[in-house]
Amino acid sequence: MDSDLRQRLAAYLEFQRELGVERLRITPSSLAALAPASAATAAPAPALAAAPRRPQTSAASSMPPFHPAPASDPVPSSLRTPAYSPSGSFASAAAPPAAPPADPAAELVHIRADLGDCTRCKLHRLGRRQIVFGAGNPGAELVFVGEGPGADEDLQGLPFVGRAGQLLTDMIQKGMGLDRAAVYICNVVKCRPPQNRTPESDECAACSPFLRRQLLAIRPKLIIALGACAAQNLLAFKGSLASVRGRLHPLELDGWNTQLLITYHPAYLLRDPSQKREAWKDLQIAMRFLGLPRA
Ligand code: SF4
Repeated sequence: MDSDLRQRLAAYLEFQRELGVERLRITPSSLAALAPASAATAAPAPALAAAPRRPQTSAASSMPPFHPAPASDPVPSSLRTPAYSPSGSFASAAAPPAAPPADPAAELVHIRADLGDCTRCKLHRLGRRQIVFGAGNPGAELVFVGEGPGADEDLQGLPFVGRAGQLLTDMIQKGMGLDRAAVYICNVVKCRPPQNRTPESDECAACSPFLRRQLLAIRPKLIIALGACAAQNLLAFKGSLASVRGRLHPLELDGWNTQLLITYHPAYLLRDPSQKREAWKDLQIAMRFLGLPRA
């Protein structure tokens, strides 16, 4: 076994150990799934060969490839909910379906320019250092949405870079086998709430149109909402987070249809590591839906 594969296997086993998994069966196929992307694309498995989902822009072309979902539906109907349109602050304004942008990277730059030095809600005067817009692959098939920046994010101007961000990186890289740069990560609100409190409804209402525009620019196959705030702004449900996680929710935004999966926020998992196994079950649903080799 070469040293790179040994390192990947060690990271994967460490991640599983953190989840509380005590026994794990390692098969030749699970080892193959741990192989680097270059090896995977060289393997005789055309269904998993990397192919861009849309013409790649200069910003997106350097991003790691994503594996296309298989033709057959790998997620059983019991893990899906009926079609749903959001009705909260994120609701569509009954606009006709907009055409996908020809250049998602350029569209994101345009949205960021529209946001400007934003003062649309009170978070702009409650101690933010800078706006944390989002980061990652403009052509991503998977987007993670959190609630808002924390202290580290506010300092660096990037989403999920503190302890919770490290856990999210582990979930993406060690768990799902993806490079973090292959996905896109953003938040409902782009400015840090004071003392890391949950964003308030007026703040979410002011900022979520920009999240909607980000999602419509990227048009991922799957959105993963991290925690109750992101889930409620995307799905506008009543009840506990536990009642809506663990299955796919069809989501329609301005005539564009995608899927939403809800799981725990990494900061919550740091406070209650016993829930990591549940989060891992959610990620496995995402991996099956996206046709990732480790699913
Ligand atoms: S949270 Fe959003 S709406 Fe509020 S000031 Fe920041 S960028 Fe503007």
